[in-house]
Amino acid sequence: MNTKPNILLIYTGGTIGMIKDSETGALQNFNFDELLKFIPELNLLECNIASHSFLKPIDSSNMNPTFWVEIGTIIEDNYNIYDGFVVLHGSDTMSYTASALSFMLENLTKPVIFTGSQLPIGDLRTDAKENLITSIQIASLHKDNKPVITEVGLYFEYKLYRANRTTKVNAEHFEAFDSLNYPPLIISGVNLSVHFPVLLKPNWNKKLVVHKNFESNILLVKMFPGINEEAINYLFSYPNLKGLVLETYGSGNLTNKTWFLKAIKKITNKNIPVINVTQCFGGSVDMSIYNTNKEYRTIGIISGKDITTEAAITKLMLMLGQNVSAKDFKIKFETSLRGEMK
Ligand code: ASP
Repeated sequence: MNTKPNILLIYTGGTIGMIKDSETGALQNFNFDELLKFIPELNLLECNIASHSFLKPIDSSNMNPTFWVEIGTIIEDNYNIYDGFVVLHGSDTMSYTASALSFMLENLTKPVIFTGSQLPIGDLRTDAKENLITSIQIASLHKDNKPVITEVGLYFEYKLYRANRTTKVNAEHFEAFDSLNYPPLIISGVNLSVHFPVLLKPNWNKKLVVHKNFESNILLVKMFPGINEEAINYLFSYPNLKGLVLETYGSGNLTNKTWFLKAIKKITNKNIPVINVTQCFGGSVDMSIYNTNKEYRTIGIISGKDITTEAAITKLMLMLGQNVSAKDFKIKFETSLRGEMK
């Protein structure tokens, strides 16, 4: 690249953009245009930085598909102007938003890097500066005049992950995220060490398509010993139910009690997709291993393989929003769209 890359920072909210009120000590959002005041080091980076802030920055516990679409639309509207995008987001639901964006942005050929922090940017011990500076550097990386990262990534505490492979695993440590089923794309040490073989390879000739329809009439149910029949029947009879993600045990195992099988059959008989995702952070669903799963194999349950719950939920919402036919749903869901499953 002969000229400096242009990077757009999109600030949605979260701890990273907060400072302590000097009188009350409570955290409050600061004016994002004053970013350079807090991180003057940004002036030293080899890129041009512009920023776009949500009108009202939010705590990420208030994230929802309407905001996902807002982020996607900002990227779409600015796609030809900028070489890379860094999205600043609260860490609590960052893996959901970043997974959703990975599915929304089809034929992405530019970096979209999510980051945030555990401590506010104004805090002496903040992790925000390193996370932000390195995310911008990663979004600026080029090789042979082309961006190195052409997917949605999540950068936190010295590692860039494929976003749709991540989960928030720690509310205390700076290393808040992990990706147990896929290796980091970049490790930041003295140098940025890029693991080229694990990066998504784009098709440079295809145009970006941004999918914006999400169906939110879905449920996520986590199995636990003693799960109650009446409660399940009540939940599963929700008249508007369009999809279900089941967090099952180990390699995708479910109780073979007749009442539970019947409850699931009632849903699959209505052509409502049921996705089997493991509660374990690492490893994969394989329903062929145990005999208890025998009956479930015949009723069309969809295997989430080694997908995260965050990616399963957002992929399901997006595919339901695209009106994929019941006949094709299983095959399509079980096929990797953006490297989210094996
Ligand atoms: N509650 C905050 C949020 O997710 C935490 C953070 O920013 O890390 O918005």
